[in-house]
Amino acid sequence: MDLFTEKGYGIARIRIEGSDNNYNYVVWCCETLECAVIDPLNAKPILDFIRDQGLTVRYIINTHAHPDHIGGNNALIKATGASILIHPKGQEFVSPGSVSIKDADVIDLGRQKIRVIHTPGHCPEHVSLVLGENVFVGDTLFLAGCGNTRYRGNVDVLYESIAFKLRSLSDNFRVFVGHDYAEANLGFALHIEPDNKAARIKLDEVRSACSQGKESCPTTIGEEKKYNPFFRYDAPEVIAGMKKRKTSIGNDPRIIFKELRELRNNWE
Ligand SMILES: [Zn+2]
Repeated sequence: MDLFTEKGYGIARIRIEGSDNNYNYVVWCCETLECAVIDPLNAKPILDFIRDQGLTVRYIINTHAHPDHIGGNNALIKATGASILIHPKGQEFVSPGSVSIKDADVIDLGRQKIRVIHTPGHCPEHVSLVLGENVFVGDTLFLAGCGNTRYRGNVDVLYESIAFKLRSLSDNFRVFVGHDYAEANLGFALHIEPDNKAARIKLDEVRSACSQGKESCPTTIGEEKKYNPFFRYDAPEVIAGMKKRKTSIGNDPRIIFKELRELRNNWE
């Protein structure tokens, strides 16, 4: 577990054992000790943490309704009585009584505010959450990668969310992701851009952190612009990398993004 404490609020990241490298998050107001749990898969480590810290759970927020992001909902509701907040398009997948959240909503958490950005594409209900200069992106964006569109997804919609919503956040925003796929994603980034020094350096960092049992996330929006191919669909190096594979591809960022996603689906 890692803690990120800032003036007025705290963030705890919990890596869930035995999962697909899932991260669960607890965010709280330091003044009122009210907290929100984001994407609980396993309630046990979360409940242990909030008990140790003396926190009260106000909300369970699901970035989206895929099973590995809602699996701990019911146990947390039972233990704390908190409500689930989820986009209306995800409400049918969670227990009755959830509260809907949509783009531009602001969730009050003690003295802190969490802003909702609707970022569909990985699935229709997907939201990202902004607290201070941090963005919790669920499965929309990963270190050096982006979410797949296999389960209720749409790649055109994912492009719009990444290009027009997440990529326009300030470079200094920290990016908290739903899964750690950093090593494989950086391998893919280098497959597309073999000469990308930032990707090479980051891959070394990730491997070194991993060998010491440390985490390599969070990154920042600015860092992602340097090596994430799904943030670099309009960079000349990425376009050149794609032209090598498909000479007729052209420069349309949407087409480059879609072809990148297609290539990543079949790359291991
Ligand atoms: Zn998902």
